[in-house]
Amino acid sequence: MDDSHLSSAAHRSFVSDSFALPKFPDTIEWRTGAKMGRFAGVDYLLVDSLLSEQELLVRQTARQFVDDEVLPVVREAYNQGAFPRKLVSQLGELGFLGANLEGYGCAGMSNVEYGLIMQELERADSGVRSFVSVQGALVMYPILQYGSDAQKEKWLPRLQSGEAIGCFGLTEPDFGSNPSGMRTRAEKRNGEWLLNGEKTWITNGSVAEIAVVWARTSEGIRGFLVEKGTKGYSTSDIHGKLSMRCSVTSSLHFSDCVIPAENQLPCAKGIKAALACLSQARHGIGWGVIGAAMDCYETARTYTLTRKQFDDKPLAGHQLVQEKLVWMITEISKAQLLALHVGRLKDSGKADAAHISMLKRNNVAMALECARISRDLLGANGIMDEYPIMRHLCNLETVKTYEGTDHIHALVIGERITGIPAYR
Ligand SMILES: Cc1cc2nc3c(=O)[nH]c(=O)nc-3n(C[C@H](O)[C@H](O)[C@H](O)COP(=O)(O)OP(=O)(O)OC[C@H]3O[C@@H](n4cnc5c(N)ncnc54)[C@H](O)[C@@H]3O)c2cc1C
Repeated sequence: MDDSHLSSAAHRSFVSDSFALPKFPDTIEWRTGAKMGRFAGVDYLLVDSLLSEQELLVRQTARQFVDDEVLPVVREAYNQGAFPRKLVSQLGELGFLGANLEGYGCAGMSNVEYGLIMQELERADSGVRSFVSVQGALVMYPILQYGSDAQKEKWLPRLQSGEAIGCFGLTEPDFGSNPSGMRTRAEKRNGEWLLNGEKTWITNGSVAEIAVVWARTSEGIRGFLVEKGTKGYSTSDIHGKLSMRCSVTSSLHFSDCVIPAENQLPCAKGIKAALACLSQARHGIGWGVIGAAMDCYETARTYTLTRKQFDDKPLAGHQLVQEKLVWMITEISKAQLLALHVGRLKDSGKADAAHISMLKRNNVAMALECARISRDLLGANGIMDEYPIMRHLCNLETVKTYEGTDHIHALVIGERITGIPAYR
């Protein structure tokens, strides 16, 4: 669809007037001589007809931001294994941090609008979408949902603008899929909390000013805000990742770390409080991976239309190639409808964790398969960083694992339909 009519003049207040969008190239020219135009969307089933003008506007804003600001830097950032930090304040200015939350400077968007932003960001890179997911769904959401007024006032405006970065510490070296087994412990001493333990695989860990940390107490699992610089709190980055390279991943260490009583999240009680945050993030992932799949599909479609083999015929003219492109567009279309339906359920307060498990599991598996097929259709060129495919493919391996693995979501759905929990 041509949505160029959605001019910046019509942007909602969350798009700051001072945010000037620079010009960007209309076509990318590959080394093979083939050209790929500006992304115009993938919409075989006319799903756009189910979106409101406001939703289309939000998506267009995100799409333009990705084209102008994210795509030009993301390949180099990935190769260097560095997060493009300059994006943080821009994401804040556009209202994309905690976009679906209300108050404290947040944009108060719907869950569908939020999902469309995630889709566009992950079209560029899962690591950029991860940053936004963690900041909004795993740091701002628990502070808004479980925090005191003082905690909300102190942290939410800074997290929304990108002035502060947050992280979410749940996973431990011996407890990944089963976080309720955690060993990190918080004990009450003289009105304060003494925190001991380790969290690992934590996105944004070492760059975060504030960590939402889950720990066992004598009253059950509780959430705490641990501020950078607190005595006894240190971080170390995980190096050598071949996936999510433009996202910072760290371990958090707590050694007799003293947390003031007012830094406990007063309303976060039990592991279910942490899992509710994960549901927020998983919903965003279910949308985000569609963007990665669309990029893989569009790259493969454009490439096979220009690359010729056997009798000067484009690859796209061969039946076996068409069948692969058809599989991709069919699965992307189904994933779009699933995401939109779950997003609408969430907006009407009817989506539960088991619905979101189906969205996350199905759409991640779909996107991974699209990346693999696209890599295959590009032949040798498919392994090159000139194309985004290997980057998406490597990133999506992480996305399959984090926020509940493919297996764990199968077990959540299995429990819903049989009534039998099969985790142990
Ligand atoms: C780049 C990256 C960023 C991350 N960011 C964060 C973050 O910000 N915060 C955070 O807290 N965590 C984060 N994680 C951790 C992530 O959530 C965990 O890796 C995930 O929960 C899986 O845990 P695990 O790696 O220990 O795998 P394991 O739990 O050891 O699982 C290994 C395999 O066994 C399977 N398995 C486990 N149990 C069962 C079962 N009962 N039945 C069948 N199969 C089973 C799994 O599906 C998987 O295939 C991140 C991970 C990565 C890679």
